Amino acid sequence: MTHFIIGPVQMYPEAMNIRQNDFSYFRSDDFSKIMMNNAKRLSLLMNCPSYKNIIFLTMSGTGAMEAAIENCLSHKDRVLVVNGGTFGKRFCELLNRHCIAYDAINLKWNEQLTLQHLCPFEKNNYDALLVNLHETSTGQLYDIKLLSDFAKRKNSLLMVDAISTFMADEYDMEKNGIDVTIISSQKGLCCSPGLSIVALSDRAKEKIISQNSVVSTSYFNFYDYLQNMERGQTPYTPAVGIVYELDAMLNLIIQTGKKEWLQSVAEKATYFRNMAIKKGFTIPCSYPHSNALTPVLFTNLNAKSIVNYLREHFQLYVNPCGGELSNSLIRVAHIGDTNLKDFDNLIEKMTIAIKNIKGL
Ligand SMILES: *Cc1c(COP(=O)(O)O)cnc(C)c1O
Repeated sequence: MTHFIIGPVQMYPEAMNIRQNDFSYFRSDDFSKIMMNNAKRLSLLMNCPSYKNIIFLTMSGTGAMEAAIENCLSHKDRVLVVNGGTFGKRFCELLNRHCIAYDAINLKWNEQLTLQHLCPFEKNNYDALLVNLHETSTGQLYDIKLLSDFAKRKNSLLMVDAISTFMADEYDMEKNGIDVTIISSQKGLCCSPGLSIVALSDRAKEKIISQNSVVSTSYFNFYDYLQNMERGQTPYTPAVGIVYELDAMLNLIIQTGKKEWLQSVAEKATYFRNMAIKKGFTIPCSYPHSNALTPVLFTNLNAKSIVNYLREHFQLYVNPCGGELSNSLIRVAHIGDTNLKDFDNLIEKMTIAIKNIKGL
């Protein structure tokens, strides 16, 4: 069984084996040390100003998206959102629910975000710009420089859902003026699902503190989390097991080296893409891709039947697509404990699947 799924990914033994240990009570100095050490290493990896600006939440990534909206924005704010797929749409839905006014840049599938898309919005003022830097539903990796420049021109808070790009592509908060980073455990960090992380710039932290009294949530209250982080704790029980997994994964990533880690993901992505093209598969190429995954397009055959065939006959797991692309696109992830041989095997089995499905 091999997972080429975007998350939860094929896990490394380093993280899997840690679950066999006895976990210590979490209101302890030892546990605080692990939490702080995790926060320190994460802030280094994403170039966040301080480990004290890191928040650990017990929820999947969407929970962190919603919590970030509740804590970092207010009803007085006007927001611009890049809506280029399922996850962009999710930001719009969350803003609707929280009654925050927004404009959306709506992209069609296969449409690359360019400066032109921003032009109609240049005349307005925005308190925040929200983007899923890697729109996981299509594989498009947006140009962070383009978005960062816009946010700077408008003096907007730049809020980035980096859930599927972090530790798959370069990511730097300071360099790109990113104020809020949202990530979760089950993607590039290769842990179990259930732990999400929000990293803040000093400016975002100040805004959170200043509007704390009007935030209508207790469990998701960032101010509480920030105060607790000062001593390496969380207000409520954290996802203890995943905190240990994260410790193990950060050890592995830092031992390997950040650059080398990203290179190995890139190597798998490039290898798979070259080989897929050589074998006659179609990779939509009108926009830049994240190294986290490769979308493969099928026009004369149902993509879902390939996903099912690979699972049923070979125990190989790839992602289908949602919505209107569900019959034409599959997505193959390059994050997780897979190697080039696994991708050789996948291509071989994809070829067999197609032959057999056509023969049915
Ligand atoms: C995976 C993912 C999420 C979070 O999804 P959950 O199921 O809530 O963990 C959010 N945004 C992006 C871009 C993602 O890839």
